[in-house]
Amino acid sequence: MPHANHLYAIAIGSNRPHGRHGRPPAVIAAAIARLDEAFALFDASPIMLNRATGGAGRDFANAAALVETPLDPTALLAQLKAIEHDFGRRTGRRWGPRVLDLDIVAWSGGKFDSRHLTIPHRRLAIRDFVLTPLAFIAPNWRLIGSLTTRHLAARLARPAPAR
Ligand code: ADP
Ligand code: MG
Repeated sequence: MPHANHLYAIAIGSNRPHGRHGRPPAVIAAAIARLDEAFALFDASPIMLNRATGGAGRDFANAAALVETPLDPTALLAQLKAIEHDFGRRTGRRWGPRVLDLDIVAWSGGKFDSRHLTIPHRRLAIRDFVLTPLAFIAPNWRLIGSLTTRHLAARLARPAPAR
């Protein structure tokens, strides 16, 4: 029987320049090209620049991609980590500056849970920089229960009620 393909939504982030590719938006473009080489790239969002607020932070560039592959989530995560490593990301501080961050946001198989991997991504619903690009290419994907990308993004954009 041929391998069944799975569809994955991947969040791509960068907030550190790469020696050859350059600044974060160029890193994201190169990462999208790499995903296309490694898997079947179904679609990619625009690359969005999220300016760091305050003095210390670094600008982030973000995008989202849809890829098709027969790999299961664990195998895909291993490949994504290899790509991150190739781009010069070294294990280190979580949340720290990184050349490339590739997260699995969702997949066509529904929920997945292991010690090293949770899908849908745990912080998905609070990450505007994930939801906004993903809403360009998968607005109607039911990410959490019946809540779609568009719905979750709109919910985040709404100002908090006054107390
Ligand atoms: P973050 O992406 O949240 O900023 P890291 O990239 O440092 O943080 O990821 C830390 C670990 O989170 C990874 O090594 C991986 O094992 C785990 N992880 C859990 N769920 C996911 C997911 N859906 N996608 C990617 N990594 C995940
Ligand atoms: Mg990550």
